[in-house]
Amino acid sequence: MDVKFCPLVSGSSGNSTYIGTKHTHILIDAGVSCKQIVEHLNELHVNPEDLDAIFVTHEHIDHIKGVGVLSRKYDIPVYATPGTWEGIGSTVGEFSHKNIRYVYKDEQCVINDICVKPFEIPHDTIEPVAYSVFAEDKKMTVATDIGHITDTIKENVYESDVLLLEANHDIEMLKNGSYPWPLKKRILGDKGHLSNVAAGETLSELMSGKTKFAFLGHLSNENNEPHLAYETVKKILEKNGVKVGTYFKLDMAARYSNSLAVEL
Ligand SMILES: [Zn+2]
Ligand SMILES: [Zn+2]
Repeated sequence: MDVKFCPLVSGSSGNSTYIGTKHTHILIDAGVSCKQIVEHLNELHVNPEDLDAIFVTHEHIDHIKGVGVLSRKYDIPVYATPGTWEGIGSTVGEFSHKNIRYVYKDEQCVINDICVKPFEIPHDTIEPVAYSVFAEDKKMTVATDIGHITDTIKENVYESDVLLLEANHDIEMLKNGSYPWPLKKRILGDKGHLSNVAAGETLSELMSGKTKFAFLGHLSNENNEPHLAYETVKKILEKNGVKVGTYFKLDMAARYSNSLAVEL
């Protein structure tokens, strides 16, 4: 049990996931305030000063809100693609030159005993990526903000021990909801967000004996409900012969509080 994976917050209101070993502590995104991130880390008994890196998926504010303050206050290196750095610009303040680090899709980045691999995702930002993280022969993947599932995503998600996958919206709720049509079109589009059904189909297709735990996350506040996302995905999995329960666990990543910390 040397590796820990814990979504700290997940949803359209902010996203951040902690992954750590005894020696290394990283975040994937920090999309709520620094103060909130620190509180979530405290619950895990992780000192923010011990963070070795923050990996950013893309420049939308629900992924970067706390990144600037965290980096300045605790002197944390921030990793993102060149396009994402361009998109971040000065939205969350200046970064110390030495803490601006670059990642490139499909190129592994080693931080002590953790290896992080970014891979391309279709989303409406400059150069978005998702991340697979390898530590102690375990694989953990955080894949949210996905317009549609690509072969690249399938290849990278496959055989993850733990996966955080987007289940952003219920298509009917979104279509019948109050969002203006251009926004609905954006979310439903090729570079928008993944629906509950798409998440269920993806999980069913990619389920291997290795995957023990999947979180559904990045739920829309307006166009989804946790129980609806869970039941929709569970139903699709069971239709495809995947039993949810003892060996394979499906859980919801909580919007405002730490989710279950998975230890591997
Ligand atoms: Zn986004
Ligand atoms: Zn997002």
